[in-house]
Amino acid sequence: MSVAAIWKIGKWFGRVNLPGRMYSLLSFGLSAFPSRPVALFACVAGFVRFEFLEENSNFGEEDRDTLDRFCTISRFGHGTTVRSVQTLFTRRTAADRHTRIACSQDSNCDTKFFDFIVVGSGVAGLRYALEVSKYGSVAIITKAEPQESNTNYAQGGVSAVLCPSDSVESHMQDTIIAGAYLCDEETVRVSFLGVSNFTILFLIQAYWYPVAFSLLMKYDPRMLIVYIVMVVCTEGPDRVKELIAIGASFDHGDDGKLHLAREGGHSHNRIVHAADMTGREIERALLKAVDDEPNIFLFGHHFAIDLLTSQDNGESYCHGVDTLNTETQQIVRFISKVTLLASGGAGHIYPSTTNPPVATGDGVAMAHRAQAVISNMEFVQFHPTALADEGLPIKPINRRDNAFLITEAVRGDGGILYNQSMQRFMPLYDERAELAPRDVVARSIDDQLKKRGEKYVLLDISHKPREQILSHFPNIAAECLRYGLDITCSSIPVVPAAHYMCGGIRAGLHGETNVKGLYVAGEVACTGLHGANRLASNSLLEALVFARRAVQPSIDHMAGSNLDTHSSTLWTRPMLPSSLKGHAIQEILFRTKATRVELQSIMWEFVGIVRSTSRLKTAEWKIGELEADWEDFLFRRGWNPTMVCLEACEMKNLFCCAKLVVNSALARHESRGLHFTEDFPFLEESKRKPTIIFPTSMKLTWSSQQVHKLIAGLPR
Ligand SMILES: Cc1cc2nc3c(=O)[nH]c(=O)nc-3n(C[C@H](O)[C@H](O)[C@H](O)COP(=O)(O)OP(=O)(O)OC[C@H]3O[C@@H](n4cnc5c(N)ncnc54)[C@H](O)[C@@H]3O)c2cc1C
Repeated sequence: MSVAAIWKIGKWFGRVNLPGRMYSLLSFGLSAFPSRPVALFACVAGFVRFEFLEENSNFGEEDRDTLDRFCTISRFGHGTTVRSVQTLFTRRTAADRHTRIACSQDSNCDTKFFDFIVVGSGVAGLRYALEVSKYGSVAIITKAEPQESNTNYAQGGVSAVLCPSDSVESHMQDTIIAGAYLCDEETVRVSFLGVSNFTILFLIQAYWYPVAFSLLMKYDPRMLIVYIVMVVCTEGPDRVKELIAIGASFDHGDDGKLHLAREGGHSHNRIVHAADMTGREIERALLKAVDDEPNIFLFGHHFAIDLLTSQDNGESYCHGVDTLNTETQQIVRFISKVTLLASGGAGHIYPSTTNPPVATGDGVAMAHRAQAVISNMEFVQFHPTALADEGLPIKPINRRDNAFLITEAVRGDGGILYNQSMQRFMPLYDERAELAPRDVVARSIDDQLKKRGEKYVLLDISHKPREQILSHFPNIAAECLRYGLDITCSSIPVVPAAHYMCGGIRAGLHGETNVKGLYVAGEVACTGLHGANRLASNSLLEALVFARRAVQPSIDHMAGSNLDTHSSTLWTRPMLPSSLKGHAIQEILFRTKATRVELQSIMWEFVGIVRSTSRLKTAEWKIGELEADWEDFLFRRGWNPTMVCLEACEMKNLFCCAKLVVNSALARHESRGLHFTEDFPFLEESKRKPTIIFPTSMKLTWSSQQVHKLIAGLPR
């Protein structure tokens, strides 16, 4: 009997009962390992099954030590708020365990108390809210209309292993290969007890046995990443089924089964989708479910300004968030036992992005100011194929807020990339041609554009049957037709655009952060799943998996916490700039708009798809100057550090994220995944580490110290 057959039988038994698990490991151990002691060891390790790894995955001092030893550390010295107030949470006694503070308001009517606060109404925030609402009151805070999110624009779909010919192992491998990271096959092939052929096969087989990973992690902590990939790929199918149960409706094939599409980097058809508007359907279904849930209160047009934190015994705690109601121009303070940040991406640090205008990196910047650890910010994914407006027969009259995406699924469905001389170029760069991972395709397009001095390349799907094109891509076909382009008979002009932030707030296996009471899920989080490059359609999946994983620890934290309703006065309240005289506010808004455009163009020119140390250093300098000038301008017009308005807050956050990206990119002296630099064009084994940005203890709200000096010296 082949190893594969034994493995499959063992796996089946393993799911069913304990003897099955033993059989599985025994058979696999004996057949896969040349060395009997190791096989025996594997069996024993598997048999003594305990959740060691998961129990030990929380952030703590040891973790920080581990990160210190194994990570590229970039210390980032500005923009940190440290608020020191007394501890607000006390442990609950058994007697008051069931008392809950529901939605209520204090005497000022601008402080609200909830068990759970969720910042963001995309897939991660909504999915989490639906689960935790079974245990307490939930406020969903979102800065625009509830549906306005990256989720709503997702076209391709959610990847999950839902077809018998596919496997978790294959999904893992695809994720790992795209991620070009800690978890590629070479890393998995760790040297363990002197056994050199300790392959990925064993790790995958051992997924019922976290102990195996925990043991491996003793030898190489980077194994955690492999574990994370495995967790997401394994839990994915259930998360998709839950979405369907909630009411999301996905496309089915003629056989009545879910239609599974294929995208670049995937070796199987495994993308669950609703035509090319998957995100819209997910968002619709989740919002409907939230609407039906009486324990959830949704606050639209509430911009989260900053997290409310305290320090106790060297630990940071999160107690909620200050918000600005952008419709009524009121400051509303939300106090909670648990806060989930699910505020999405930061696409708008670049001028051309597929992200809607809400994606200004607020969550990462807020968390950074609140002392959270940030990771992997150099890995910005540029989608290779956004619609190039200048190549359309009829040019759009107004510049779009966000570039219109031409989903990867078009290439998955057979779309071919040509330069403007109709030469197919992808095979020149990669044997996977159009199905190569996004970073490869984006760099290839970038290279073609630079070499040929052209503004766009062409993506052609017109060789496919018209009905197929229209049924698979109705949204894209309709959007192009608005500008005179029929994609069933013409090629689509495309260019790369900023699309996804692989880095973010460093999260543990349950979405926990180093700030107690603060959890993260979705694009704002850096779980490690994507490594240096996200595999197509893995982000909705990651958001679903981590939103769910964050539920239990959140409930535990909530159950062990009390809310002090008097605490709301402990933090300085943000102020509206209503006291500013004359045209000051108009001037500030005008200057902020121009500064935003300037920052975006610096990022595009110096921190784009292909980077170099000198360009990154130029960007660092230019951004520093731009920020100092902007702050100088504001403060000279009477602004003070507690003042807030939407535009200024977003600007501050964009600056923060841009600097995090530049700093992280400068810290990585190799090219890996999405980070490509001409000065270090190759992968370096010794650099196979995440970039970690620890918070500093500088007590600054505004970024440049000059400004603080300036404030001191300015007449008020
Ligand atoms: C055009 C496009 C196509 C994509 N296609 C796919 C795909 O096919 N498959 C896939 O897996 N992924 C895809 N992605 C990526 C995926 O959509 C996102 O990564 C995912 O939806 C992120 O979900 P989220 O819940 O983390 O954040 P989002 O869906 O972005 O939600 C963030 C929420 O936070 C709110 N928010 C932000 N800042 C604040 C603040 N300061 N205060 C209050 N609220 C705030 C926003 O308003 C929004 O409601 C695509 C992304 C885009 C842009």
